[in-house]
Amino acid sequence: MASPALLMRVVASAYSVAEKAATIVRNVMSGGDLGIVEKAGPNDLQTKADRLVQMSICASLARKFPKVTIIGEEELPTDDVTEDLIEDGHCEEILKKPCPTQYTGIKEEELVIWVDPLDGTKEYTEGLLDHVTVLIGIAYGGKAIAGVINQPYYNYEAGANAVLGRTIWGVLGMGAFGFQLTEAPAGKHIVVTTRSHSSALVNECITALNPDHVIRVGGAGNKIIQLIEGKASAYVFASPGCKKWDTCAPEAILHAVGGKITDIRGNPFQYNKEVKHMNSAGVLATLRNYDYYASRIPNTVKESLVP
Ligand code: AMP
Ligand code: MG
Ligand code: MG
Repeated sequence: MASPALLMRVVASAYSVAEKAATIVRNVMSGGDLGIVEKAGPNDLQTKADRLVQMSICASLARKFPKVTIIGEEELPTDDVTEDLIEDGHCEEILKKPCPTQYTGIKEEELVIWVDPLDGTKEYTEGLLDHVTVLIGIAYGGKAIAGVINQPYYNYEAGANAVLGRTIWGVLGMGAFGFQLTEAPAGKHIVVTTRSHSSALVNECITALNPDHVIRVGGAGNKIIQLIEGKASAYVFASPGCKKWDTCAPEAILHAVGGKITDIRGNPFQYNKEVKHMNSAGVLATLRNYDYYASRIPNTVKESLVP
């Protein structure tokens, strides 16, 4: 049998690298010293887990795939990564799956990997542990084509015997795995949005959609999970603040199951390596009924957000 396509090898490795990342996230928390640093301000935090996980993911993937461009959220030195942070395993089950034919010829230098080592840092520091995800998004030709989302504390309220943590992954043209795809209740409009980065515009936009219910939780990864598990019908964030590493892996997984994510004005996101990191015009995502929500975003809100 021919050796597996590069894309499948990258996804299979990213799966194991994300599981190692989850172990680091849990170990830092149980160690008790989060080492919190403010970046832009008190709502933009970095912990020891963000730092160690970024070093682990980026160094592990760079060692296996040296010509791939890897862009991580945290600004860190890349030369002093210790061996205990390196993961060289991969998920056999992923390697066995056939690569979608349109991606079989991809070369290393054509891939860009967007890494959010810990999404939902604010919530992590506040003990809202199931909001936290590790995001590894894979882009080709400017498009998010594959992604891995690890939720290190999935099931943490289910008791000591429950299996803690899970890994969700997906590839365009193949589907997404590691969860039960569920649609939100028909005829109900449940909006999920930010918990810690609200603004007048964020709230104005949600009010205009006249939802039956609003869920406020941390993390872009966590909010996409709410969509694919039927807890919410739309992720609406009318604000800058969310970055390409927040949306790349979630986008690939959402699109792999037929959902849609754009900015608030309806523009798709681009993930080539030269792109601006900030998603300045916010986020609108749904599993189904994208047009229902897109058509109800007020023009005043759209005009306030410049891509
Ligand atoms: P949230 O929904 O508030 O958890 O935001 C989703 C992602 O976007 C997280 O990684 C946040 O850190 C990031 N984000 C959103 N708004 C801001 C902001 N105003 N400043 C810094 N990061 C933000
Ligand atoms: Mg994030
Ligand atoms: Mg982060």
